[in-house]
Amino acid sequence: MAGSILLQNGTVLFHEGNNVKFLHNHDVLIQGNKINKIGRGLQPLPNGKLIDCSGKIISPGFIDTHHHLWQTQLKGRHGDQVLTDYMVSGMLQSFNYEAEDMFWGQLAGCIESIDSGVTTVVDHANLTYSPEHATEALRATASSGLRTIFCYGVMPRLKKWTSEFEIDKEVFPGWWHSTLETLAKAQPFGKERVQLGFSFDLFKLPREVVTEVWTKCRKLGLKILTTHYSSPAMPNSIKMLSDYGLLDKDIIVSHANNIAEVDARTLVDHDVYISSTPETELQFGPGDVVAFRDDIRSHASIGLDCHSTNSTDLLTQIRMCLQYSRAMVAVKSWEQEGKQLPKLTIKLEEAFNLGTIQGARAVNMEDQIGSIAEGKLADIIVFDTHSPAMVCAAEENPLAAVLLHASVRDIETVIIDGVIRKEDKKLSQIEILDEPNGKVESKISWSELSRNLLDSRARIKKRGEGQDFAVAKKALFGGA
Ligand SMILES: [Zn+2]
Repeated sequence: MAGSILLQNGTVLFHEGNNVKFLHNHDVLIQGNKINKIGRGLQPLPNGKLIDCSGKIISPGFIDTHHHLWQTQLKGRHGDQVLTDYMVSGMLQSFNYEAEDMFWGQLAGCIESIDSGVTTVVDHANLTYSPEHATEALRATASSGLRTIFCYGVMPRLKKWTSEFEIDKEVFPGWWHSTLETLAKAQPFGKERVQLGFSFDLFKLPREVVTEVWTKCRKLGLKILTTHYSSPAMPNSIKMLSDYGLLDKDIIVSHANNIAEVDARTLVDHDVYISSTPETELQFGPGDVVAFRDDIRSHASIGLDCHSTNSTDLLTQIRMCLQYSRAMVAVKSWEQEGKQLPKLTIKLEEAFNLGTIQGARAVNMEDQIGSIAEGKLADIIVFDTHSPAMVCAAEENPLAAVLLHASVRDIETVIIDGVIRKEDKKLSQIEILDEPNGKVESKISWSELSRNLLDSRARIKKRGEGQDFAVAKKALFGGA
């Protein structure tokens, strides 16, 4: 239950536009689900909670703009795989999930995000095998405490997968539409933390089909519409959306590897953001990570993509994106300017913004999240700066401490919507709801959740026995 919390005497990472200031020895007073006041010498409210932040860093929670939260049970599979392998051993595995498996996978994906300091996720929920798959994933999301835009998806659903492989030809069955309509009417969920969006990648469908479903989602009031894009591997959905008159600022384009300059300009002109996901992009082979490319960096945010493949924390994603991009600038400089050390043009502040205020802009919630400001929602994390990793760094430069030294273990407190979800480096109990907007049905700890997850993983593995990956790959990619 959200009450009042006073974060006392910490170093607040405070945004003024795109600049991040360090407010030393400052307090942050949270009342209900909002930040009430930032200042010095603030007093806790009667019956309010006091957290001593002396020597600690108080940061806005991170915003992950592209993730598939259901995939927890698939962890460990993809270490030596490229995109086409992952599509079969990862994405298509929703076929082997029953609704209950979706619940546990989704809940654990949300909790891992919270543990790692992520407070908002755009969930590309390509999991809709049945109404129950969607509602169970939504119930898990609402139960977790994470702020989420659950992007109800449409994807290739399988009818059969043994030594043979068959995709259901009916892309939008009746239940898909009626579930979408019911959920759209019932949203938001989880005390307004969870809003509904739409995820779609099927740009090979005829123009009128694409236009009809995107228009419908907007009429239903969906918050964000999201799609994967990578050039030249996928159809040019940016051009198509533009040509179809559908491109608007409620869209997030994930990846955008190798995006053409003309398409980058189109996105910027329409105020559409991209989500770079460095760790999957660097491994899976789709091409360049473009978040800091000059023609798109004003409209870049950062995402995680697959926690089945890699780490969930945005600290790692931001660090990887920053240093990779700096290296690429250097490579270009050495090639074009001879033996010259390049100027460092990508700074820590911009990298921090990628995971905070830029994420808020991407989801059109800059007035609510993405920075610590009076009146904004209380999505805040606290770093322990006296840890072996962070000690001394925070005294010198708090942004360097967070972006170059910290790891998940240094994130001591996570507050989302004014509710403490992690305290003293331990996850809080999880309140399981009886439906996405319902009453608390039970409470479980992480260790209980992990046991359910392991059982679910075994069931999924068993269902997958005898499924021929080569046949699936051939059907999807023509023998790649
Ligand atoms: Zn993805």
